[in-house]
Formats: sequence, C-alpha cells, structure tokens
Amino acid sequence: VVRTRFAPSPTGYLHLGGARTALFSWAYARHHQGVFVLRIEDTDLERSTPEAVQAILDGMQWLGMQPDEGPFYQMQRMDRYREVIAQMLREGSAYLCYSTPEEVEAMREKARAAGLKPRYDGTWRPEAGKTLPPVPADRKPVVRFRSPLQGSTSWNDVVKGPISFDNAELDDLVIARTDGTPTYNFCVVVDDWDMKITHVLRGDDHINNTPRQINILRALGAEPPLYGHLPMILGPDGEKLSKRHGAVSVMEYDKQGYLPEAMVNYLARLGWSHGDDELFSREQLVEWFDTRSLSKSAAQWDPKKLNWVNAHYIKHSSDEDLAAHVAPRVAELGGDPGSTDLPAVMALLKDRAETLNQLADGAMLFCAPPVQIDPELAAQHLTPEAREILRDFAEHAGALPVWDTASLAALIQETLARHGVKMPKLGIPLRLATTGRKQTPAIDAVLALLGRDAVLQRLAALQG
Ligand code: GLU
Repeated sequence: VVRTRFAPSPTGYLHLGGARTALFSWAYARHHQGVFVLRIEDTDLERSTPEAVQAILDGMQWLGMQPDEGPFYQMQRMDRYREVIAQMLREGSAYLCYSTPEEVEAMREKARAAGLKPRYDGTWRPEAGKTLPPVPADRKPVVRFRSPLQGSTSWNDVVKGPISFDNAELDDLVIARTDGTPTYNFCVVVDDWDMKITHVLRGDDHINNTPRQINILRALGAEPPLYGHLPMILGPDGEKLSKRHGAVSVMEYDKQGYLPEAMVNYLARLGWSHGDDELFSREQLVEWFDTRSLSKSAAQWDPKKLNWVNAHYIKHSSDEDLAAHVAPRVAELGGDPGSTDLPAVMALLKDRAETLNQLADGAMLFCAPPVQIDPELAAQHLTPEAREILRDFAEHAGALPVWDTASLAALIQETLARHGVKMPKLGIPLRLATTGRKQTPAIDAVLALLGRDAVLQRLAALQG
C-alpha cells in the first residue's frame, strides 16, 4: 500500500512550495487509495512555533488536504530516536566521537587546503586493528553514523531519474549531539522507517540529504522508500520565488480572495501536467495524478494565470456559494451584507471578477449607504445641468409601474431623449449619485438591484 507524507518544519506560514509538495503527496496517496501522513518536524526549538504549526494545519485544511494519519510531532518521538541510536551504537553502525568542534573545524580546513571536500577525518571511527585515542575526561561525545567509505549510493529519482553520489563524498555525519538530541537527517530516517513511508516527494533542496538517509536506512536493515525531488518554484523574473514577488503564504491567498479549488488547480499545474488540461477539479487531479508527469524543470509562478484560473472558478460557482464567501468580506469592508440580495449581486458581478475581494468591493455598491462622493468628481460631473437631469430622472423613476432592469433601461433612454444628451451626460452623474463610483456594472441592472427606495433616497440626498 502506498504511504506518502508531508513533513514540514513549523518555522513560518505554509508557503506555496510546501503546499505544492503536500498537494502532490496527497494526490499520489489518494490516487493509489493509500495513506497520506502529516509529520511536523519541530526539533528546531528556536525556530519552531505553535503558531506556525497552526498555520500549516489551517493551510492544509483550506486546500482540502486532510491527512489520514497524524499530525505526528517529532518532539514527541525523542525516546524512539534515542532507542534507535542506542541500537546503532550496539550494532556498530554508529560510534562515539570525542572530537571538539574546533578539532573538527581544523580537519575540515586541512581537507580544504588539500583541495578535498571538507570532512571529518574519522579519528574516532573504529576499524579493525586500529587503536582509538584515549577518551578525554569531562568531554561529552557526539554520535556519528558509520558511513560506507567505498562505492556509491544511488537511487532512481521518480522526478529526476537516476542520481548517484560517491560515498567518499559523504562523511560520518553526526546523528546525536553532545546533549543526546538527535539531528535532522536522523529523525527523518527513523520516521520514514517507522511510518512505513513508500514514496517521499519533497523539494530538490533535499537531494544532498538523500544518500545519507538511504545509507542510514540500509544500516538499519530497512528498505529505503522511493524518492522524488521536485524542482523549485521560480518567480515571474526567473529568480527563486520569494516575498519580493508578492504573497508566498498560502493563507494570504485566502485573504486576497482566491477560492481553494482555484488554488489547488493552479498549484497542481505548477510542475505537473495532464496533457493540455489547464482546468480540472480536485477529483480529476486525484484520478489523473502520476509521478511520470512531474516536470524535471523549475515551474514559474504566474499571477495572471492564477487570476485567470480563479476567475473561471468564480464564474462557475453558484451565486449562493459566492454570496457565502463574499458576505464576511463585505462586513470587513464596513458594509451590511444583509442589506441587499447578495446572490443577485453575485449574479451581476461574477462574470467579470477575478477575486472574491473584487466581488466584495463591487457588492459594497449595494451594501454601504450613505454614498460618499469624491468632491473633485462631484465638481466635475454633478454640475447644475446634470443635477437637473437627475431630478427629472428621479421624478419619473418614482412613478415607474415596474422596477426592473428593462424599465430602467427604457427610462434612461427616454431621459436622454428628453434632454437631448448622450449617455455619459446621464450615466456618469447617475452612477456617482447612486453608488459613489464613476464605473459600475451596467447602470440599469445596478439600479434594479439597489431597489427603488435606495435609488430615490440617494438621488434625493443630492438635491438637498
Ligand atoms: N522538514 C523538511 C522541510 O520542511 C522536509 C523534510 C522532508 O521532506 O524530508 O524542508
């Protein structure tokens, strides 16, 4: 059975790269009816925070990636790591090393001077027929992994193809510090082993860790999982995606008015493809997902395309769903979402909106009396002549037998004819007076939705 995991370090928000890694691991497990595990790698006590854990859980929940197992926390597994370290010391696949940090630095320096890769020189590594130095008093040892010296460590990366490292390049890495706490690579290995992970999908910044992890797993008699290393996400300028390019926190996209379905769709297409399909549901992603279609090269973040995808999902959402998403955003803007028929407002606006925030902004036309008119725009457009046309329009509007888009459209045409003016002479003052804005969706539809009382009130306020 396929078992994948997402193993974030809780040192900040859930960022786009992490969310994409999680999404692929989730989709792969779902596709194979497997198990998706969430593991919080919180051993870096200085940088890990409970808020960051919460941000990761929130982000995953928002995107609809529920783990089947977990969250597991590495800090709660310390006893298990100590147990495995003790076992490795017993079996000889790890050893105590009493070299001080200064001594190790000197060894590295020496290697560098000889044109070699900086490395620990094996002083404390037990070998047949070798006498170890006397154990210094009052010094606490670290535990080092006894890494193979010869040969190479290879794997067939499910994204990048065959990868191989010379074992001579990998030195005996520290698996436990002087205070007994296990190190990062070691915890990952024990966890992947204990959690029976079959497929590890992660960022390609971890490629250098992989041969070490494979060697430790082999020393433990475990079968290494399959590894797939995902190329990073680049910004539109080709540099590594960062804050400079805009929001990198997933939840920031929620704030800005992106639908989770749109986000999942867009993130999935960053480094994975299914023919020419650009738009697909979560269910289709699960049905189609395979590691063969993961891209070997870096993906580029494209805010325009994200907006296009989001606009698609908005357009195809029901008016009621959109209203539910938009109501709290309207309230946040200071409007009263209950003061209008919000689903009808959504129907009017949704064909042209790229984000929920744009919808909320548009809905404010209907939810936020009294209207504020910029004095400069008023001076320019609400001239005495314009006010006279509006007064006349209001008078006839009050007498309209039916208040709907068609009658209002007809009334606008009649008013233009009566005063011998063209549309902008009425359209702009009418928009300004009733909404405070120069640009709105079709004004007849806007007036129809606003309702007779609100329109007449707003027009009367102008004359006063
Ligand atoms: N905790 C690591 C990170 O957040 C990921 C480790 C892994 O996937 O093996 O970068």
